[in-house]
Amino acid sequence: MINLSKSGTRMPVQAPEDRIHNINEVAEGFTEEMAVREALRCLQCREHPCMTEGCPVSNHIPDFIRKITEGEYEEAYQILTETTVLPAVCGRVCPKYLQCEGNCVRGEKGRSVAIGSLERFVADLHRKRVLAGEIEEKTAACSAEETGSEGTAASGKTTDGAAAKKVAVIGSGPAGLACAKDLSGAGYDVTVFTRESTPGGVLAYGIPVFRLPEEVLRFEVDGLSAAGVKIETEKELGKDITIDTLMGEMGFSAVFIGNGAGRSMGLGIPGTDLSGVISAADFLDGLNAAGEDKEKLDSVLPGAKTIAIIGGGNVAMDACRFAVRIPGAEKVSVVYRRSVKEMPADPAELAEAMEEGVEFIYLTAPLEVLGEGGKVTGLKCQKMELSEPDASGRRKPVPVEGSEFTLAVDAVVEAIGSSSDNDGLDGVAVSDRGYIIVDADTLATGRAGVFAGGDTVTGPKTVIAAMGAGRRAAREIDAYLKK
Ligand code: SF4
Ligand code: SF4
Repeated sequence: MINLSKSGTRMPVQAPEDRIHNINEVAEGFTEEMAVREALRCLQCREHPCMTEGCPVSNHIPDFIRKITEGEYEEAYQILTETTVLPAVCGRVCPKYLQCEGNCVRGEKGRSVAIGSLERFVADLHRKRVLAGEIEEKTAACSAEETGSEGTAASGKTTDGAAAKKVAVIGSGPAGLACAKDLSGAGYDVTVFTRESTPGGVLAYGIPVFRLPEEVLRFEVDGLSAAGVKIETEKELGKDITIDTLMGEMGFSAVFIGNGAGRSMGLGIPGTDLSGVISAADFLDGLNAAGEDKEKLDSVLPGAKTIAIIGGGNVAMDACRFAVRIPGAEKVSVVYRRSVKEMPADPAELAEAMEEGVEFIYLTAPLEVLGEGGKVTGLKCQKMELSEPDASGRRKPVPVEGSEFTLAVDAVVEAIGSSSDNDGLDGVAVSDRGYIIVDADTLATGRAGVFAGGDTVTGPKTVIAAMGAGRRAAREIDAYLKK
C-alpha cells in the first residue's frame, strides 16, 4: 500500500478494496499504545518549529504531546483547546506535511512526529469520554490571553449589568466558528448565521464523510452551542439577512463575514449546461447528505458509470474518491492540465485516490462536453505540454496541435476552483476576483464594524488558516468594540 507519510507510527487504514464499498472513515485512528509510542518520539525541542513555524494557530505542540507520554490525555486535550476550537477536525484534515509535521525537526533525518494523528487521538478520546458520561465537557472558549484580549474573559459585558454587545458571524465554517467561540468567551452575545440546514460550512458540505465523519464535526459544533454561541441555520446573506439589516434593525454592533468560498467556478467550455455536469461543491454536498442511502448516492449523478473529474487540487481528490464510492460507478478519471509534479493536491490524498483505482490523465485540458438528448456522452480533450517556467515559477500548459481526442464519459465534475458569494454585502468592497477586501492587519473592511477573514478574503486555503483568521478577527472586533 502506498504511504507517503513522513510520520513515524503508521495509523491503521481500511484496505482500499474494502473502503471503496463504504463511506466509513478511511483512517482508523491511533490506539493508546500507538499514541504513546509516537509521542515518545517527540524531542521536546526548545525552539519547537512545529509550533512556531508550522501551526497557523500555534498549538502548544510539545506540551500536549508531553502530556500524552504521561498518560494525561484530558490535560493534553485542554492544552489544545487553548488555541484551537476544532482539534478533532484539524487532526484529520490539516495539510500537516506542509505545516506542523513539515517543520518537525525529526523530519530532517527521518520521519516527522505524527502531530496531527496525536491531536486527533486526544480529541477523539475526549469526545468518547464525554459521550460515555465519564467526564464533563468544559465550555470555556480559548483563553483571553490566547485571543489577545486585554481584559477578562468577560470583556464583552458591560459593567452596569446591561446586555452584552451583539456580534453577528456570517458563516459556520472554521473561520466563523473560531471567531464566534472567542467572542463568546470574551462575553459578547454572538449569533452565527449559516445558509445551510446544518452548521459546519465547508467542513460539513465540502469534506467527504470518509475523511471527516459527521459525528466528529457535530460534537465540536455542539461544544460551541454549549458555550453560548447561538446558531441560526438557513439564513443566507443577501436573501434572508444583509449587512444593513444586521447592523440596523437587528442591532448587531459588529459583523464578521467568514462565509468561505463555496461558489464553484465553471469550466467555461461548451456543453456544461448538459445534464450530467455538476460542480464539485454540489457533488460533494449531495453525496455527504446522502450518507449510507445507496439510492440517494446514485441520485446525485443519476445513472453515471464513467465520471471525469476536472482539476488537480484537494477538492478534485475528494470528488474522485467519493465518485468511486458511488454504487453504480465503473470508472473514475481525473483530468488535469499539468503533470503530477505540479499537482497542488495533498500527496497522501493523491496516493489514496490511486490506491482506490482512480485513473489520472495528466497534461490534458477539456475543450467541450459532448452530449446527446441533453445528456453527457463524452468529453472532448486536448493534450498539453509544459512551457518554460514563467515569472511566477510555474510552467504553463500549452496545447499540442492536432492532439484532440474524446474521452467516453457520462458525467463531468467541475473541480477547478471556487469563489465567494458576494450578495448582500451592502457596500463592503470586493476585489476583481470576487474576494472581500480587508485591511491586512486588522481584517477590517471599509465599512465600520464589519470584518472579514478566511477563504472569503484569501480564496480557498486550509481549514486551519481560516480558523486562524477567525481568531484574529475576534481580537480585532473585541478591540474595535472597546473603543
Ligand atoms: Fe498541525 Fe493543524 Fe494541528 Fe496545527 S492544527 S498542530 S497545523 S494538525
Ligand atoms: Fe517534537 Fe518535532 Fe516539535 Fe521537536 S519539532 S517539539 S520533535 S514535534
